[in-house]
Amino acid sequence: PFGTLPDLIAAHARERGDKPAVVHGDATLSYAQLDARMDRVAAALQRDGLTRGQAVTIVGATSIDYAAIFLGAIRAGGAPAPIAPSSTGEQMAAMIADSGAGMLFLDADAAATLGDRKVPARRVALDRSDAGEALEAWLADAGAPRPVTIAPEDPFNIIYSSGTTGTPKGIVQPHAMRWAHIARNEAAGFGDAVTMIATPLYSNTTLVSFIPTLAWGGTVVLLGKFDARKFLEAAERHRATHAMLVPVQYQRIMAIEDFDRFDLGSFRLKTCTSAPFSAALKADVVARWPGLLVEYYGMTEGGGTCILNATTHPDKLHTVGQPAPGHDIRLIDEDGNEVARGEMGEVVGRSPAMMSGYHGRKQASAEAEWFDPDGNRFIRHGDVGRFDADGFLILMDRKKDLIISGGFNIYPSDLEAELAKHPGVRDCAVVGVPSEQWGETPVGFYVPADAAPAADILATVNATLGKTQRLADLVAMDELPRSAIGKVLKRELRDLYMEKTP
Ligand code: ATP
Ligand code: MG
Repeated sequence: PFGTLPDLIAAHARERGDKPAVVHGDATLSYAQLDARMDRVAAALQRDGLTRGQAVTIVGATSIDYAAIFLGAIRAGGAPAPIAPSSTGEQMAAMIADSGAGMLFLDADAAATLGDRKVPARRVALDRSDAGEALEAWLADAGAPRPVTIAPEDPFNIIYSSGTTGTPKGIVQPHAMRWAHIARNEAAGFGDAVTMIATPLYSNTTLVSFIPTLAWGGTVVLLGKFDARKFLEAAERHRATHAMLVPVQYQRIMAIEDFDRFDLGSFRLKTCTSAPFSAALKADVVARWPGLLVEYYGMTEGGGTCILNATTHPDKLHTVGQPAPGHDIRLIDEDGNEVARGEMGEVVGRSPAMMSGYHGRKQASAEAEWFDPDGNRFIRHGDVGRFDADGFLILMDRKKDLIISGGFNIYPSDLEAELAKHPGVRDCAVVGVPSEQWGETPVGFYVPADAAPAADILATVNATLGKTQRLADLVAMDELPRSAIGKVLKRELRDLYMEKTP
């Protein structure tokens, strides 16, 4: 069976119209109100000439209007294409043009970032407040939307990849992909969920809990800029049951001194994805925060997903789990052949519903594919890992981050694990920098936990490492550079180091 998210929301509006669907600060939209607002957005978009499957870009901070435009665009037969407000003006303009959108919704901060760059889309201002004036004016007299028939292969949305390794790519996710995900979450208890949304709405990391919550009739609580204490206060106040957080958010929350004084007994499921999540941190969350902890490893492209139930697998916390039901994950070598069990290789994955391709990029879409001997299409994840004897995936690094030094492969994650063990290190990352002698050599960056000098930490850690792995340098920083979704930006660390040591 196939359905669409807007139709499910309409059904909840009919059956339990008063139930809160979206909460943001003091503002709440019930299912009936959300449904009505989606209708108005859809009608206004159609009035202004939205074509079937066309992108609708949204750039701004999280708000109820943002959520309503995202969902209304889908009802209109369009494909929301949310863009990270943390992008530069150049990047924003490039993504808006790339998406092919005719309509662009942006808040004041995003408008300032975009400046007077020419974009081929009509602008509508979004307020930071919910139900902003400019948006109301645009919605006025739109009438009722024309119903559209949506097919499984039609685009649901276009999500830009995080840009961790290069220019963000527009990933076209068809309705079938979201539908499969909604169905897969049947047992996750979203029907009576209160889901805390603490990451920005444009990210797939957020959408994978936002969408199933609304699809199954739960309530989403939208939070603004992340603050660990405010998160805990809001979770307690709303009797939260679900949350999808990224590792750096778990790290900040668990570091709150009086964490144990908060009543988090309403939690049933906490999930995590996006970036490496240390075994020690997972263990801490499992021990001190009620409800299951489940980690997902996957990508916006939807190649394949691994799942780790950290609560029930305390001995597997150093892994990202096993392939989800119906998902096939393999590891391949440089020549594209599968590696033997237990060997390291690049992750390729296949799932019942994957991206149609990168928007407007035939070549990049083709390069992302791998075919098994039977001709089945897989997607390259760009990550390197190996399976343990029980079939749990041990994820190492992004392929682009591997360091080849004097002919040896160095895995930055091995070195990061050693650095992290030092009591003077609160956070760390290792990158490869060019070296005349070795081709590349590893250097470390860390956030100090105490006053131990960098030189002492470097000596101690290097003493534990093999000769070929030793760090050439260790640099202290106040914070590691991270994307808005909490991924360490290794590109920036490399650039920083090169500037510092010409
Ligand atoms: P870009 O493709 O633009 O460089 P990105 O790969 O960061 O950006 P996403 O699709 O948001 O864009 O992220 C997918 C990647 O995130 C994976 O390939 C992997 O490197 C990382 N990742 C996802 N889940 C996990 C996890 N549980 N543990 C470690 N890394 C993860
Ligand atoms: Mg990627």
